[in-house]
Amino acid sequence: MLVVCPHCNAANRVPSDRAGDDPVCGKCGAAILDGTPVALDESRFDRFVARSELPVVVDFWASWCGPCKRSFPWMGEMQKKYGDGGLTVVAINVDKKREDAAKFLAATPGAFTIVYDPAGSVASSYDVKGMPTSYLVDRAGRVVAVDSGFRDDAKAAWEARIKSALETR
Ligand SMILES: [Zn+2]
Repeated sequence: MLVVCPHCNAANRVPSDRAGDDPVCGKCGAAILDGTPVALDESRFDRFVARSELPVVVDFWASWCGPCKRSFPWMGEMQKKYGDGGLTVVAINVDKKREDAAKFLAATPGAFTIVYDPAGSVASSYDVKGMPTSYLVDRAGRVVAVDSGFRDDAKAAWEARIKSALETR
């Protein structure tokens, strides 16, 4: 799977079966899947998405969000299953305090890219109304699906949308 380093924005190719081995960035040497929240702004996020191998699942989450605890394992599953096919899952934390996000991640690790948007500028550019809200961005950079809340009965439909986005060239 292609993972954009949250520290320096370099794109790194990581075999999915090695995602659990704490891969480090080839450019800056920092851990890229350690769940370290990093600050970013809207323009940096646009570059981040542009450099990722689309499609991208963009998920906004917060430490105080109950359904987010259930969406994390599912997003990890999607990253693992479809990462080699080109899917990138990016979870954007909107907590104002970084330690709140760290506590959540200690209890609920996420094996995908996690970035930090404490000012909410990326969230407002996506017009996020509640937590969690997920977007599916296709290879052309278009938002092709959006859903708020996390419901188990919506998983199959999301997976079908992801598959279709991967198959669309
Ligand atoms: Zn890096």
